Amino acid sequence: MTGTVYKLEVNPRIPQQLERMHELANNLWYSWDRPTRGLFASLSPSLWNLTNHNPKAFLKRADQKCLEANAENPIFLGALDRVLASYDSYHERPYMGHVPGKPFQEDDLIAYFCAEFGLHESLPIYSGGLGILAGDHCKAASDMGLPFVGVGLFYREGYFHQKLDAEGRQQASYHDSDFDDLPVSPVLDASGQELLVHINLPDRRVFAKVWEVRVGHVRIILLDTWLEQNSAQDREITHRLYGGDKTTRIEQEILLGVGGARALAALGLKPTVWHINEGHAAFLIVERVRSLISEGLPYEAALEAAAANVVFTTHTAVPAGHDHFSEEMMRRYAEHWCKNVGVSPEQVLALGAEPGSTEFNMTALAVRTSRQHNGVSRIHGNVSASILAHLWPQIDPAENPMNYVTNGVHLPTFLAPEWLETFERYLGIGWQERQVDPGNWDGIRQIPDTTFWGIRQQLKSMLLQLVRSRIREQHLRNQGSPTHLDRLLKLVDPCNPNLLIIGFARRFATYKRAALLFHDPQWLREIIGDPDRPVLFLFAGKAHPADQPGQEIIRRIAQLASQPEFEGRILLIEGYDLHLSRTLVAGVDVWLNNPIYPLEASGTSGMKAAMNGALNLSMLDGWWGEGYDDSGEVPNGWAIKPAPGHLDEAQRDAEEARTLYEILQDQVIPTYYRTGPMGYSPEWVAMAKRSIATITPRFNMIRMVNEYVQRLYAPAAEHGRRFAADGFAVARSVAEWKAKVRAAWPRVSLHSLATPEQRLPFGTSLRIEVAVQLDGLAPEDVVVELLVDRPEHHSADILYYPLTASGVTASAERIYALDLTPELCGKLEYRIRMYPCHPALIHRFELGLMVWL
Ligand SMILES: *Cc1c(COP(=O)(O)O)cnc(C)c1O
Repeated sequence: MTGTVYKLEVNPRIPQQLERMHELANNLWYSWDRPTRGLFASLSPSLWNLTNHNPKAFLKRADQKCLEANAENPIFLGALDRVLASYDSYHERPYMGHVPGKPFQEDDLIAYFCAEFGLHESLPIYSGGLGILAGDHCKAASDMGLPFVGVGLFYREGYFHQKLDAEGRQQASYHDSDFDDLPVSPVLDASGQELLVHINLPDRRVFAKVWEVRVGHVRIILLDTWLEQNSAQDREITHRLYGGDKTTRIEQEILLGVGGARALAALGLKPTVWHINEGHAAFLIVERVRSLISEGLPYEAALEAAAANVVFTTHTAVPAGHDHFSEEMMRRYAEHWCKNVGVSPEQVLALGAEPGSTEFNMTALAVRTSRQHNGVSRIHGNVSASILAHLWPQIDPAENPMNYVTNGVHLPTFLAPEWLETFERYLGIGWQERQVDPGNWDGIRQIPDTTFWGIRQQLKSMLLQLVRSRIREQHLRNQGSPTHLDRLLKLVDPCNPNLLIIGFARRFATYKRAALLFHDPQWLREIIGDPDRPVLFLFAGKAHPADQPGQEIIRRIAQLASQPEFEGRILLIEGYDLHLSRTLVAGVDVWLNNPIYPLEASGTSGMKAAMNGALNLSMLDGWWGEGYDDSGEVPNGWAIKPAPGHLDEAQRDAEEARTLYEILQDQVIPTYYRTGPMGYSPEWVAMAKRSIATITPRFNMIRMVNEYVQRLYAPAAEHGRRFAADGFAVARSVAEWKAKVRAAWPRVSLHSLATPEQRLPFGTSLRIEVAVQLDGLAPEDVVVELLVDRPEHHSADILYYPLTASGVTASAERIYALDLTPELCGKLEYRIRMYPCHPALIHRFELGLMVWL
């Protein structure tokens, strides 16, 4: 059609009785409160889907007559009243209502910085696991009433939209969001103007508009550079999530860290804990150090003061996955920053240095400028301790300060509402408040199998319905024929959901090995070929547009799925997002995950599946390394044990694929189809119940955030205060002491003064003496320590004994001694070491210095 198109949006007048729906639409509380979403959807299911489940966009487009009719409809008004009553009672909950021990002071505030937040499909500022985790973290912080504020970027385009053509080629497209439609509002300053902050980059100043998102009690502050004041190029900074080139990326990160810290200051917020969630946000330290230097602190003391209350969480187990910038690029920004601060660019560059590389590493920066650091599962904690061991070069990775807090998921977001009534009945009223208590979940066993299976079938049916409509849409868009569509959908029958459904959905990053299932197509054919025991595999996920190998995997799966013997048994669904994720994890029977060990930092989708009664079949990696439990009458899922480390890639894949096939063939499929007279397998139901009961209390967000509070946030707040007291006295003295120790350490040494006995009758003691060259350090600056080990006992604890200063040798070395009386008989081994020690240190090995005899 020709002619100019003029756009016009006609907004309904919301009747006064429905006025508070605006409030509901502007608080992401709806992302986990299903009745709220149900209320909107009930007005017009088609508009609800059209607006991608976005209540704010929905209210702007709703039909005037429909609104008016419902404003007089007692049933609708009753539902609205119930939703508002629960909304109000949630928001009236007391500050820190659900944090054990109330570990914070009145003015405490945790600022949580992250490059993406995945709260709901209606706010597309996330790409995957990291964002969903951050969104869940904010939701749980709200549930707990924590003093908490999120900080992120407001991308005009979120992550890309994925379409797959008939050959499985991924087509990425981007859409600019209409900010008016999104559940965010501009933050206003004291004079009622929209609040702007700025950052200074080499040769220019960039302004950012400050927005806020309400997530229950919690606010997330988002920065946006799409402003008149900025050049066209600077407007692009927040255009696209993980978009642009390296320059865009570093400027996004400077905006997030520096701009974010400034936005908090402009809002009058003074965080007492700063959480860098993944290295992208690490530049916040730069702004804090600048502001401390402007208060008169020397650079080193400012770093100590700032680091004392910073928590850093790393989320990847792949070193190449850590953010890097070239030295040249980083130097340009550092030089500019240093001009006004009196620090040399070399000092700043050193904060991100890595041995063997000239690149500036954001993870290294984050670790060096925080005092609490953690990975996201036990395995990942160990992997991170090794990857980052160079930051504490003389410390064994097993002892270095890298800690872990295992991830969790927000239960109200991911638990299908179909469970709620049954859980309430068998777990008791208030079960959600007791979700971290394992005893709370014993009641799952009491749910009658038929009830349990009935809910499972309902969830499966809902999934099949969604799959049907998605596959249909994909197929017809790709000019597929209707008869062929019937073939594809022959197993996808919402009226007959009783078939084994296995799901695999996540980013198609190569280490996730989505195609491992097809390692031996012949064997797979045999496994799923039995017409009496149908198996349906559902795949979904996006590959980063720059990730060719990832897109290749999608093509390969599509190609195999189109072979006659797999057709209709393996389906690839495009456009993985939170909506599809919620439906998938609730509706599959088995959730499959087979990454390359140990590269899955945690993984969280399996936790979502487990709480809905799906069974995990996963590599013993990430969270499943802790979650898998075969100690009961039935196991809570299936585990693929990593192949031995000495195998090469091909052998490893073959070995692990074999395990996967054996588990499918010998366990999963027979167990599912060992159906009794009621049409389900009692053993399967027992496993599913055990999966819910053992996994939900441990891998939920409340447990996770509670651990952050008890182990990281509360101590960080305390350390921050301690370091800042009396004009930053502790920060200053720790900085001076560290400088002194670092200078002396290369010349510090110790040697043994005697060759003691090698055999000892029980009850007698052994005199151990070492001489220590302290090179100007005082005896109290170091600890000399003896470690006793029992090598024949694999899991025996190491015992530690301090040596005490006892005199001086002729050559003016300090003598340290110990009379050791072993309490155990048998073969012992002991070693002696020395490390620097200061009472104000946060981790005893934070300096990374140690010498061994
Ligand atoms: C949970 C979730 C993820 C993360 O899943 P992993 O198991 O960590 O890969 C990614 N995307 C969406 C949409 C999710 O809901």
